[in-house]
Amino acid sequence: MAHIDLHLHSTFSDGRDGVERLAERACAEEGLAAIALTDHDTGEGVDALRAAAGARLKVLDGIEISAEWRGAVMHLLGYFPPGGAARAERVRALCWDNAITHRLESVLRWAPAAVVERMQRRRREFLGEDAAFDTAAIVADVEESYRRSVAEVERALGRPPRWPVPPGGRLWREAMERRGLVPLPVLEAFVARDGRKAALIAAFWEDAVAAAKGRPPAAEERARIARAAREDCGFVLYAERSSITLAGAVRAVQEDGGVAILAHLSPTLRAAGIASLDDALPELASLGVQGFEAWYPLHGEDETERILRFCAARGLLATGGTDHHGKKEQRIGDLGGGRRVPVLPIVELLGG
Ligand SMILES: [Zn+2]
Ligand SMILES: [Zn+2]
Repeated sequence: MAHIDLHLHSTFSDGRDGVERLAERACAEEGLAAIALTDHDTGEGVDALRAAAGARLKVLDGIEISAEWRGAVMHLLGYFPPGGAARAERVRALCWDNAITHRLESVLRWAPAAVVERMQRRRREFLGEDAAFDTAAIVADVEESYRRSVAEVERALGRPPRWPVPPGGRLWREAMERRGLVPLPVLEAFVARDGRKAALIAAFWEDAVAAAKGRPPAAEERARIARAAREDCGFVLYAERSSITLAGAVRAVQEDGGVAILAHLSPTLRAAGIASLDDALPELASLGVQGFEAWYPLHGEDETERILRFCAARGLLATGGTDHHGKKEQRIGDLGGGRRVPVLPIVELLGG
């Protein structure tokens, strides 16, 4: 029976598969009739994925936006007609701020002053620009907090703190991730002494600082830096937290002509401990979302059923997908794995 997967990530956010590989995997998957790329805070990869899939597979435009609701970070899926993600101006503006704010926070949390200086130098060396950027004020106490974080991780691994930081092995990385600390590419570039990488990250960082100071750079400049950072460094614009409201995200998706769908509600609610599924569904529906992701690897069969019943009763759309990231260590779902999602009305609605 034909099935679909409307929740996939690529290297345009935190997935491991590039869009070409993702397209190949999806096209090789027996019975898969439609997919949607739903990268975090960007719809940039969709056109390339569609081009790679060609006529073999229906590709829906998607994006997954982190947005705050009752103190928890919810993930809102926005689906658009073909080409719609690229034209989603309001969503793009919203997501840029979303990503930039939190990227800056993590940079400030992680980058020691020595890295900053090195990056400044490297940026001039490699980009040939007069690229001084004022970092003295913002990095004053960063090194100390960084040192403390590293010490905490090493302690958790039962090892004495080491300084400077050794190149991160798997255990070190996992221990950091368990604490919600992201080993930034900037650190990896520093460790690897990769000048070009560090230079590009520095360029991105400068951009982030400018945005935080209320001087957001021009759209083309942002796009150029984001693209360079992604292509050359695998640098991901993805925020674990969000300062945008869920209502605002729903509005932006709809004003850009998209369909707003609440993603993986059960695990999100469980993690936040904020509401039962049955209480949350009507409350979230009242924000104007057009549907809910019912099929999800971490939804129990009973939860999927309850969401489907709610959607049917309210005339809302149901969707489903694997949340494929292509990472073995992050087994949320795998393309084509788990319970199969049947072909749903949203595919007819937006599938072109
Ligand atoms: Zn998500
Ligand atoms: Zn996802």
